Amino acid sequence: MCGIVGIISKEEVNIKDSLLGLLKRLEYRGYDSAGIGFINNNKIQLIKKKGSIDDLACSIKNNYFSHIGLAHTRWATHGKPSSNNAHPFISQNKKWAIVHNGIVENYLELKKELKNTRYLSQTDSEVIAHLLEKQKASSDIEKVINVCNKLKGSFALLGMLVDKPNTLFIAKRKSPIYIMEGNLEVIVASDTICFEGKGSKYYTLNDDEFCVASLDKLTFYDKAGHQISKHAQVLDNLSYSLSKNEYKHYMLKEIMEESDVVSNIIKEYSKNRFTEFNKKFLEKVDNIVIIGCGTAYHAGLIGARFFEKHVNIDSTCEIASEFRYSDKKIKPSNLYIFISQSGETADTLACLELVKRFGGLCVGITNVMHSTLAKNVDICLNVCAGIEVAVASTKAYIAQLVVLYMLSRHFEGQLRNLQIDYMKDVEKLRLSLQKTTFTDIDEIASLISKKQSVTFIGRDIDYSSSLEASLKLKEVSYISSFACPSGELKHGYLAQVDSNVCVIVLATNQKLLDKTLNNASEVEARGGKVVICSPFKTQDKFIKIEIQDIDSDLICCLVASKLQYLAYKTSIIKNINPDKPRNLAKSVTVE
Ligand code: GLU
Repeated sequence: MCGIVGIISKEEVNIKDSLLGLLKRLEYRGYDSAGIGFINNNKIQLIKKKGSIDDLACSIKNNYFSHIGLAHTRWATHGKPSSNNAHPFISQNKKWAIVHNGIVENYLELKKELKNTRYLSQTDSEVIAHLLEKQKASSDIEKVINVCNKLKGSFALLGMLVDKPNTLFIAKRKSPIYIMEGNLEVIVASDTICFEGKGSKYYTLNDDEFCVASLDKLTFYDKAGHQISKHAQVLDNLSYSLSKNEYKHYMLKEIMEESDVVSNIIKEYSKNRFTEFNKKFLEKVDNIVIIGCGTAYHAGLIGARFFEKHVNIDSTCEIASEFRYSDKKIKPSNLYIFISQSGETADTLACLELVKRFGGLCVGITNVMHSTLAKNVDICLNVCAGIEVAVASTKAYIAQLVVLYMLSRHFEGQLRNLQIDYMKDVEKLRLSLQKTTFTDIDEIASLISKKQSVTFIGRDIDYSSSLEASLKLKEVSYISSFACPSGELKHGYLAQVDSNVCVIVLATNQKLLDKTLNNASEVEARGGKVVICSPFKTQDKFIKIEIQDIDSDLICCLVASKLQYLAYKTSIIKNINPDKPRNLAKSVTVE
């Protein structure tokens, strides 16, 4: 979701270029407006704009030179996207400027506390700048800490003060923020992507920790205002570049990278695999509970099936935003698996916190090994997908499925005292992904781009794959799309079927093939267009998406890849930018 950057530079720099250059690296996170703030001639200057970073850049005609600045891409939670609601915000006395990522849940209450304040925006964030001005405390950091202690909700907060033109104030609760100290500059950002090429070490704040950053030192504090010490972390090398290479869109590039991702997984997991999960430990596990949101939830649904099928331990997958407010029993004898591409998904992290309170081993599956999820689980498994830029997750989903599959087969081997060579299945998948062609999809994309609605149907794992295929299609093509278990068609959905709808039938399980094809015929008989996505021979009357038969559960990855491409192609036909679907953000760090 939205991004924050800040810079303090030893030399005076063209601050607009420096800030916008860093902000561009966060563009993938999704946003609706952007703004910069800097100190120039002893004054704080703000420039904000609804729309893209490029729109903002075009609107800034002059060059400004400064040692310090901050910038923000906003994904509106309170107040519509507009220039006024874009960050930074400035205090009434024009001394403090802040950018904020997250939600101030008690902002109305806090506004009531502040008398005679004129607000220039409808956001929840602006109140922070005014609160800072009103604080009476002996030091500036104390003011920041006092204000943050009053805030309910989540924040990554970056502030600067006109009287301290070489200092940035940083605070964090539940939204990521990182600090890099170089020789000539300090950079603060919500993703370490911004540090690439600028230095090799950076610092992370934990929740309710603070930092005062200046060129000669970084000082860290806890919420009681005590100084704390922190160790620097080494920056991971980006294994994938941020460039699109020859591809027109990141989404396409990322689909095409899927076989490389599987080969990374093979490399990473070829030795010392899952050693923590031995027979003794697994025998004590009652249930496996997987938790995630969106695409990660769909991977978890399939993962739960892998565990049930191979391990015979009852397994479920829960939607994080539901689980956290449910009355589900959390048992120390259960194994909890949290899936999040970014490792910063707010609802998933909230569930992790909840589960940790009650015990239960917590395993994370993520693409970002320095994320909050990775840091807070007992065991973290890397999906090795490399940076994923397009908002709609593709290669990370495939990677999550592969890791879940390997884990389930490892559990099986341990519990049954068998040597299972599941890596050969993963290798087969890699080869098939490499050989996958997408030419059969073009015509189907053109067909569905004209339909009012598209429904994906399937049974068992194919139903879970349908949920993800449907999500992908609606995310990037805006076509109204549903997923329905094949057997449920008669219980309601058939009423919708006429010549305006298309039904895509997923059929990868030979045992269920005939039943699923019967459902396809029911749709066809009512005028609906049917597309079959299957490795098996089916009647010629149906349009076919060919899937290679790899004789393992990992066939769901081949289905996903083809249907991701279908979503991609449909968005292109509809003239939509698939990398940045409207209203969506890449990592959802707010509830
Ligand atoms: N809640 C804030 C707003 O609506 C910040 C949103 C964000 O994290 O981008 O302005």
